[in-house]
Amino acid sequence: MTDPRAGGRGAPAAGEDARRAELAANLSEVRERIDAACAAAHRDPAEVTLIAVTKTFPASDVRLLATLGIADVGENRDQEAAPKAAACTGLPLTWHFVGRLQTNKARSVAAYADVVHSIDRPRLVAALSAAAVRAGRTLRCLVQVSLDGDTSRGGATAGQVPALVDALAGAEGLSPGGVMAVAPLGADPAESFARLAAIAADVRSRHPEAALISAGMSGDLEQAIECGATHVRVGTALLGGRRAIVR
Ligand SMILES: *Cc1c(COP(=O)(O)O)cnc(C)c1O
Repeated sequence: MTDPRAGGRGAPAAGEDARRAELAANLSEVRERIDAACAAAHRDPAEVTLIAVTKTFPASDVRLLATLGIADVGENRDQEAAPKAAACTGLPLTWHFVGRLQTNKARSVAAYADVVHSIDRPRLVAALSAAAVRAGRTLRCLVQVSLDGDTSRGGATAGQVPALVDALAGAEGLSPGGVMAVAPLGADPAESFARLAAIAADVRSRHPEAALISAGMSGDLEQAIECGATHVRVGTALLGGRRAIVR
């Protein structure tokens, strides 16, 4: 496939039509995968929210996805997300911040994000809380779990999760939403997501409103849905090649 970001400059209308058709085809394939995974797991597809991870792709793609029925968009870098969200003001979209978050970006992220998936330390809870209060907004926050315990790539250890959820519950401007994870490279995603499901059940037993499970990407959304994911974060399968899928 050609680079989807390259097309359309000389002939905007034709380029946009082609891109819309490509996104529509990708979206129907992803929806079919989600429906099949839900059927296999005896779940209602309405329980699974598809987040289109639009990182590296332009605001024009976000607009096209919105016209195709996408209501949830994910981004992982504030520098890219902030102007993109601004360019999409007025669209009926929920913005999810899914990347590692530095405390000095909290103020910017709190201005446009509705859900933050990457809470992994108390200092970030404090910074986001202050930023949300200042912005007059309430952010739903998920604790990111490092399922292999290697927190150098982001995420808290399983043991740190309860205290972080408690901190979110007590923080002004924030509400505890649940948990998020990325399957560790080289690990069996089904086994990883089963561990996340157990952590999520524990969180939910103490904070019933923290019921979201954000898990599953282009390569492993089926295993995530089997393990109870309520939100799948899909980039490549919807928008095209940003990098090779390695598993
Ligand atoms: C990029 C990204 C995704 C989407 O990954 P794909 O494999 O392209 O579907 C999901 N979650 C996070 C945190 C990401 O950074």
